[in-house]
Amino acid sequence: MIVNMFGDASEEQINHIVARIKECGYQAHVIRGEERTVIGIVGKSDRHRSELEALSSAPGVEEIVKISHPFKLAARSCRPEGTVLDLGKGVTIGGREVVVAAGPCAVESAEQIADIAAKVAKAGAKLLRGGAFKPRSSPYSFQGLGEEGLKLMRDAADKNGLLVVSEVMDPSQIEIMMPYVDVMQVGARNMQNYHLLRGLGEIDKPVLLKRGMSATIEELLLSAEYIMSGGNYKVILCERGIRTFETYLRNTMDIAAIPVIKSLSHLPVVADPSHGTGRRDKVAPMARAAVAAGADGLIIEVHPDPERALSDGVQSLYPDQFTQLMKEIRLIAQAVDREIA
Ligand code: PEP
Ligand code: MN
Repeated sequence: MIVNMFGDASEEQINHIVARIKECGYQAHVIRGEERTVIGIVGKSDRHRSELEALSSAPGVEEIVKISHPFKLAARSCRPEGTVLDLGKGVTIGGREVVVAAGPCAVESAEQIADIAAKVAKAGAKLLRGGAFKPRSSPYSFQGLGEEGLKLMRDAADKNGLLVVSEVMDPSQIEIMMPYVDVMQVGARNMQNYHLLRGLGEIDKPVLLKRGMSATIEELLLSAEYIMSGGNYKVILCERGIRTFETYLRNTMDIAAIPVIKSLSHLPVVADPSHGTGRRDKVAPMARAAVAAGADGLIIEVHPDPERALSDGVQSLYPDQFTQLMKEIRLIAQAVDREIA
């Protein structure tokens, strides 16, 4: 961190800041310029970070500039070449291939999940998505089939050579889900459920961490840090749209977050244009944009009969639309030196 003092800061004010930095156990490097004095703070520990940040309101201080990130294990500098995660069944994410997960918002029945699994696999998806424990905004909405849903999903995925990604909402569900899923999804509403994140830090399974609807990129990376600091480095980050002043669509898809996260972190980044827009006709344009912007994967809602879907039918693609989208993103992937098998 660097403390920029006002040009007219007094010697006493500068000395006070230097003393506080030292009290917190750091070194203070005072650089006196023609117009102002700058104080560099050097030290390894993060323990007194908030006390240092509080100095921004001390007399004589204009601003404090952070030059190192508060996230460490997730930082690009930790693994400059990028992380490639093995998801199983020969599928890796974070490398040259753009990996697609597709399926319904929620598992609804054996017929529904078997039908859609066959269709998305044929179109080129590598993972079957679907919720068994659903985080619905209303307690009166369909809440998912629970463990029965996981069984149906595993069965449908295995019959079609797919991996399974499904949402975990509570630490108590981790154990139940372990045998059924290949990737644990943390939903937007739980991105800052630190108890859940710590629980996921203790398992040996990839976690797809979705950005909270009001979370900054830094907060997303700090949530990844919770999982990684527990020992589980298998984290995939997901941009799924954020709340802004714009209300035309369900969310504002932050496409720029993809290259921003790729530069800040070594972790793979996927995009969810379904929740990012909330409208079926906007899913394909945002999916194409995400691949062009450097996403390592996509997660897309597809339903055999969206009109009768128990959740998110409005944003679910018809199977034919998904097949068409796969053809388009294959071409876009090639244009940016990636591929979709
Ligand atoms: C989902 O993927 O089904 C979901 C609920 O997404 P989000 O957590 O991004 O709202
Ligand atoms: Mn959904």
